[in-house]
Amino acid sequence: MITGTILRISGPVIIARGMKGSKMYDVVKVGKEALRGEIIRLEGGEAVIQVYEDTTGLFISEPVENTEQPLSVELGPGLLSSIYDGVQRPLPVLAEKSGDFIARGIYAPGLDREKKWEFTPVAKAGDTVIGGDILGTVKEFHFEHRILVPNGVSGTVTEIHGGTFTVEEPVCTLDNTRKIAMMRFWPVRIPRPHKKKLDPVLPLITGQRVFDCIFPVTKGGTAMIPGGFGTGKTVSEQTLAKWSDTQIVVYIGCGERGNEMTDVLAEFPELVDPRTNLPLIERTILIANTSNMPVAAREASIYTGITIAEYFRDMGYDVALMADSTSRWGEALREVSGRLEEMPGEEGYPAYLATRLSAFYERAGRVVCMGSEERNGSVTVVGAVSPPGGDFSEPITQNTLRVVGTFWALDTNLAYRRHFPSVNWIKSYSLYLDSIGDWYVEHVARDWRELREKAMYLLQKEVELQEIVQLVGPDALPESEKAILDVTRMIREDFLQQSAYSDSDSFCPVEKQYLMLKVIMEYYENVNVAMGRGVALRQIQALPLKTGIGRMKEVQDTTELRTMIDDIGKQLQALEVER
Ligand code: ADP
Ligand code: MG
Repeated sequence: MITGTILRISGPVIIARGMKGSKMYDVVKVGKEALRGEIIRLEGGEAVIQVYEDTTGLFISEPVENTEQPLSVELGPGLLSSIYDGVQRPLPVLAEKSGDFIARGIYAPGLDREKKWEFTPVAKAGDTVIGGDILGTVKEFHFEHRILVPNGVSGTVTEIHGGTFTVEEPVCTLDNTRKIAMMRFWPVRIPRPHKKKLDPVLPLITGQRVFDCIFPVTKGGTAMIPGGFGTGKTVSEQTLAKWSDTQIVVYIGCGERGNEMTDVLAEFPELVDPRTNLPLIERTILIANTSNMPVAAREASIYTGITIAEYFRDMGYDVALMADSTSRWGEALREVSGRLEEMPGEEGYPAYLATRLSAFYERAGRVVCMGSEERNGSVTVVGAVSPPGGDFSEPITQNTLRVVGTFWALDTNLAYRRHFPSVNWIKSYSLYLDSIGDWYVEHVARDWRELREKAMYLLQKEVELQEIVQLVGPDALPESEKAILDVTRMIREDFLQQSAYSDSDSFCPVEKQYLMLKVIMEYYENVNVAMGRGVALRQIQALPLKTGIGRMKEVQDTTELRTMIDDIGKQLQALEVER
């Protein structure tokens, strides 16, 4: 065993000597209280260690013991509905042991060792199996937790039994006498393997119009939500966690204030999944590392989260990972780097910030899973970014921007005007519009993309027109341009705005999204035709059509929207030119 002693303490970072033989990222136990830490630099026999717990009270020359294991997570039945800290300590268990202020040096395993699970074999004696093959299943709530052959293991099954087992008891034996239990360990900093990455052709359906219809993200895609304080990052992440059409959600509350996380913890157990009518918490894993918790564990939290996400992906499921906020993760990285006296890069962040960020987002993807069976799974990553002062030119925003496929820029002005989600339609973008085109044609409508482009064109036109209006007043605009302003207001208010708190509108099915946009664009087309005949805008505006459009959000029956589309044409065509 490698045992050294503390030489220096600097906040969350300590230096230990006598650590010869250690490896990078080995987990160590620091001091008499055995605080967990991880080796992040080695120089001769000296190890630089980031400690996941508060280091006050540690003294020079206290012992440091190397576990000679990399920082790993425990994977197996029992993950779902768990609430962990950044290094997978189950928070409710810790709280039970030490009260609300978690004492230091307390350890509890990520998976319950006593609990028994009903294991149903899929493989049978005589089967030849390789890493990634399904050995059997465990029912976790209503979810089918698939127990896979560990990566790198293969052989012929000699024994496999159904029955109740703890996660450590063997459920299967291979011909090489290797016994396999349900629990796996995986080092968090190493991506779990897959056979190959697939093209991002399936949209992630979120039920949010501005996301699905205007700036979509795909299953296995990446998105960022940058925005100043109060613009709706947390609400957006939570909305996505609630409504995304994935089987599993990993939610990382990273460095944000404790009360925000408390909201999540209080709200989640109450929420019902609209697709399955089951409690949402049953498909969720929460990782909480709030601002009052140690920074090094915050640095680890996103890796803990994505490793868990990959584990479920490997079973052949779609997983969504939300991180709120990656800026706080970056700040943790900066703080540790500062303690190491590394050469600072931009704004004090370490020079490797960009590489770390891209390596993290690179772990997203829709993949062909390991194993002999053809099975696909995906991890979609949505990271919130909180740039200081809402200034998008700062390093975390800029470096994330380079690697993600969808950019949902939240806007302080829109939030101030209570336009939610405050996604700025001029600054935001999605690189997935082309790749998901076929899916929309097949599942929604041929002209989705065309409608979207028209709406976006009008919204861009609106910006120009508003400048003119500011200079010379609205009366200077020709009727045709007034009509544009009329319709862009509809696009903004009756389509883009969507309250996360509305019972009838917090989730909007894709078909309804499309029809709502179709109604508005149909209105615009017909207005143009009518005005071409000489009908005055004043006459059009006097029609009760607008009221109908204004209450589309509450409409649940989509045939009503289809009727509206017909009606709009009829009413506008029936208008007679006033002389
Ligand atoms: P941030 O995390 O960016 O600081 P929050 O997500 O906490 O901001 O949002 C701040 C407030 O904005 C919320 O409390 C809520 O009142 C409002 N808000 C944000 N998004 C929405 C939404 N989609 N629907 C309704 N209200 C919203
Ligand atoms: Mg927030």
